[in-house]
Amino acid sequence: MNKKGHVLNAVLLSIGLGYLLEPVGDLETFRTIVMIGVPVTLGALFPDVDTAFGKHRKTLHNLPILIGFVAFPFVFGNLEYVWIGVLTHYVLDIAGSKRGIALFYPLWKEEFGLPIGVAVSSTRADLMMVIVTVGELALATALVFEVPRWGFEMGRQVLGL
Ligand SMILES: [Zn+2]
Repeated sequence: MNKKGHVLNAVLLSIGLGYLLEPVGDLETFRTIVMIGVPVTLGALFPDVDTAFGKHRKTLHNLPILIGFVAFPFVFGNLEYVWIGVLTHYVLDIAGSKRGIALFYPLWKEEFGLPIGVAVSSTRADLMMVIVTVGELALATALVFEVPRWGFEMGRQVLGL
């Protein structure tokens, strides 16, 4: 996926997440979209820095880098939401483009991708980006609405209510 695809994916995902978390569509929704959208878009741009430093689709396209961004806010108290941008970049490279990414780099140089991906230069790249984004939002919706319900049900059963 090229830079345009990654930026559009991050922006659309952030708008969706903003509405998911603040569904009213008021100023608070807009504030949430900006609060999430800026760090997510920056995060989505980060992995391709390895086109200039290191090996592309390897050096900054792996799980240790993602874990680092997930842990960063807990350790240093800032850069929240950046990991979502890094994660969506990986998802788009794995699912949306032909060449995969080296998830386990530097331990294992093998690049992993899904066979549904299209070439970066393909005219269907934008369509693929939209499909991946819709899939991500469907998953996020399930996580936000279903997982708390399961937890509630499980809690009730454990407590025998
Ligand atoms: Zn990439």
